[in-house]
Amino acid sequence: MGKALIIGCGGVASVAIHKCCQNSSVFEEICIASRTISKCDALKEKLSAETKTKITTASVDANNVEELITLIEKVQPDVVLNLALPYQDLTIMDACLATRTNYVDTANYEPEDTAKFEYKWQWAYREKFEKAGITALLGSGFDPGVTGVFSAYALKHYFDEINYIDILDCNAGDHGYPFATNFNPEINIREVSANGSYWEDGQWIETKPMEIKRVYNFPEIGEKDMYLLHHEEIESLALNMPGIKRIRFFMTFGQSYLTHLKCLENVGMTSIEPIMYEGKEIVPLQFLKAVLPDPSSLGPRTKGKTNIGNIFIGKKDGVEKKIYIYNTCDHEKCYEEVGSQAVAYTTGVPAMIGAMMLMTGTWKKAGVYNIEEFDPDPYMDALNKWGLPWKISENPELVD
Ligand code: NDP
Repeated sequence: MGKALIIGCGGVASVAIHKCCQNSSVFEEICIASRTISKCDALKEKLSAETKTKITTASVDANNVEELITLIEKVQPDVVLNLALPYQDLTIMDACLATRTNYVDTANYEPEDTAKFEYKWQWAYREKFEKAGITALLGSGFDPGVTGVFSAYALKHYFDEINYIDILDCNAGDHGYPFATNFNPEINIREVSANGSYWEDGQWIETKPMEIKRVYNFPEIGEKDMYLLHHEEIESLALNMPGIKRIRFFMTFGQSYLTHLKCLENVGMTSIEPIMYEGKEIVPLQFLKAVLPDPSSLGPRTKGKTNIGNIFIGKKDGVEKKIYIYNTCDHEKCYEEVGSQAVAYTTGVPAMIGAMMLMTGTWKKAGVYNIEEFDPDPYMDALNKWGLPWKISENPELVD
């Protein structure tokens, strides 16, 4: 059917690339391009024998728009799947505009020197993409991503209006390390050490980091502590869900993770302010990333499950109703299938599906869109087919 250019070759990209290679009738050809080409070549070597997808590789600095344009013109992809870091979103979008190529990512833009992610920078491209006749699909990971698709699906099939959404992200996996992050440590720690916030009655309510804690009994997992975080899909869902009164996001953390994080914060290791060290400027958080376990090394050691989903409360035919749509995923099964743990798996599979929606023309409208702005049904079918089956509970425990 077509060709995708995948930028980045880290934990999430590795899963997405495995999945594209399982889906050769759609992904006839992929080009894997990243900063370190040896990682792309190693993956090509691993997968070429077992797939019909033709794989090529390239080296690219995704901070450099001209380099990206040259690469896109050479590869001529139907879609660019951005699985590098949030810092590169705008340069890759610029290159897609210049070459009139569709764009998909999994995380919204964040300036490298300010730990603040917001959609405003990418939404500013709406008119330009519309005029160019191409689509940018923002946030096709799990959260954001599947959580937005779950919301669109609930609205389409279960509710006339949704008033409350609680998004719960539980990782009950155990990798045996006292402290490690499940995806890029720098991005992960920036996210969890920031202030929390939620949307209520048309405005943001800000909290201190980890200020709001709840205990929830997750299906197939059991009771876990979870903490309210700011999360990017709240921003778009607040605009796209009619009748919405409140949206919150909770993530589970174990005590060991929190104790280590507090200690690292207290000694200044999570700071993104550059400091001088032996005549060289270093960013403490980037140095910390260098000494922490590489998330891709967690795969063989992680046991247990993830459970991510949304609790919806709203009205249907004037009657109040609540449902919980969720997926559970087993770390060891993911590792067996694609050589990665479930956090990368639950992001990489939706990334492939998002690219597939645009490549097949299933989702087709020019402009910049968040995922809940498309018809959720084909995406929900694809989740079942490609490894992330979902369930619906019609009588879920609620979060107070
Ligand atoms: P990794 O750090 O494992 O991988 C990032 C990749 O991008 C690496 O291959 C890296 O290259 C490459 N890269 C970084 N900078 C550049 C550059 N300037 N030019 C070219 N390539 C570059 O990250 P993850 O795989 O863990 O995360 C990938 C993305 O997924 C992130 O944006 C993250 O926020 C997002 N994510 C989204 C989730 C969701 O549910 N929506 C959940 C988890 C992650 P190199 O190998 O040289 O370092």
